[in-house]
Amino acid sequence: MGIQFEPEFREADVERYAFACGHPNGLTTHTFESHGDAYTALCDVVGLHGHAGSLAVCGDMFCTSGAGSMSVTPVTREETPVLKVSGTNGHRILRAVGLPDDYCGSAPADSVLRGIQAGTEAAAAGVYGNESAYLLERLPELETVARFAQERGLALTWA
Ligand SMILES: [Zn+2]
Repeated sequence: MGIQFEPEFREADVERYAFACGHPNGLTTHTFESHGDAYTALCDVVGLHGHAGSLAVCGDMFCTSGAGSMSVTPVTREETPVLKVSGTNGHRILRAVGLPDDYCGSAPADSVLRGIQAGTEAAAAGVYGNESAYLLERLPELETVARFAQERGLALTWA
């Protein structure tokens, strides 16, 4: 399991609901107004064909053949920055930033930004040994996510 850092989800920011397979180009153009409507439509397709492969738009055989799965996905008004890392690296980042080293959590963007600054200084000083270079690469990416959240009054979440 990897860890994804992202701004707290706010229902009001959702523009539409669509389907996604998980591939970067896999988001469909559906414009369902509610999660429930999208879910019903997805179940109808699966009921008809036994799978949701006909909804896949990524072009990947695995998905279009129906071997993969499609899930209802909220599409927000603006592109939201996220940072995806492996579980091991996620825990490294959490510890360096001084956040609870849990699989899921949330913290105010302000305190995350302070933690990133402290973690960056410590990494620059080599406090984390071999992990320092990795942290110096990832912490600026986490900062982009945290700044986005802070500017919108949102918390930062990870899961
Ligand atoms: Zn796909």
